[in-house]
Amino acid sequence: MIVNKLIANMLPHMPKRLIWIFSKRYIAGETIDDGLRAARELNAQGVEVTVDVLGEFITSLAQAEGYKNKYLETIDRFTSENIKGNFSLKPSMFGLLIDKEACYKHLYNIIALAVEKNSFVRIDMEDSQCVDPEMTLFKQLKKEFPGHVGLVVQAYLRRTLDDLNSLNNLTANGHPLNFRLCKGIYVEPPHVAYKDYQEVRDHFLEDLEYMFKNKMYVGIATHDKYLIDQAKILIEKYEVPKDMYEFQMLYGVTPELRRSVVQEGHKMRVYVPFGKEWFGYSTRRLKENPKMASHIIKALFFR
Ligand code: FAD
Repeated sequence: MIVNKLIANMLPHMPKRLIWIFSKRYIAGETIDDGLRAARELNAQGVEVTVDVLGEFITSLAQAEGYKNKYLETIDRFTSENIKGNFSLKPSMFGLLIDKEACYKHLYNIIALAVEKNSFVRIDMEDSQCVDPEMTLFKQLKKEFPGHVGLVVQAYLRRTLDDLNSLNNLTANGHPLNFRLCKGIYVEPPHVAYKDYQEVRDHFLEDLEYMFKNKMYVGIATHDKYLIDQAKILIEKYEVPKDMYEFQMLYGVTPELRRSVVQEGHKMRVYVPFGKEWFGYSTRRLKENPKMASHIIKALFFR
């Protein structure tokens, strides 16, 4: 753990080229064309994608405008090339923590284009200070675009089951609520998030069962084989139809496990991040979650 922390702190000072050796496995590249190439490869393997333009936590609203234009261009390119997939975004890169109204307008414009192209946008969940404002955004946008917007919930948060309960009556025009359920990646204090590994798994399954019981659409986002196996048991128990769930994984992570889930006939979607901000993204992620450093050591030395 100490070694992991040390490596995570050293990373921002390491040469960019060295970090790229680790990052390239998890990031499609810097450009829309890189994202398209990765998406086409995954589509050819029977896997859909959710495309993410890298960037988060901006410090001035001028940056948000640039990111919005990048998303509009991305949606335009991916849909016109008939990529099977949708889009994910982080509200903090549109000014969530600076100006909520401006952030809402940017997301509105992005989702409006996705609707025009018959696509879908998922709002990623960020650290715990973002949960309330992101839920508010989601509620507003779900009313405007009932079948075209979804949210992420994090099983490690103590509040998640209550949040699901409070959102449960939000189905609009027959469109079910659409969530991605993940464990959660940010480092949170113990009064906010469960810390024990098995406890997080248990709450993941509790949330998942709640979602199935309440007929919510779920993207089951995990590489944890135990959770995937338990999810399959719940899918059978509640006879969840194939159009009410999918599995999701991150680009470059556990490809063998991904293939086995696809071979069993489950829908699979891979999160494909691309963009110029890959260096900041990779190093920030690592500082937030030093456990990731062990993956770097493997990537650097066991290629
Ligand atoms: P873990 O126990 O962390 O991993 C299980 C096994 O998978 C590990 O033992 C390891 O072998 C492998 N593994 C996992 N991650 C990696 C990796 N990076 N590199 C190499 N091997 C790895 N979190 C948020 O807070 N907000 C979000 O919006 C969000 N969106 C996500 C979208 C998708 C599609 C996915 C799959 C994850 C997302 N996450 C998000 C991250 C998530 O919260 C977890 O941090 C991450 O998925 C690791 O948890 P796990 O369930 O895979 O279990």
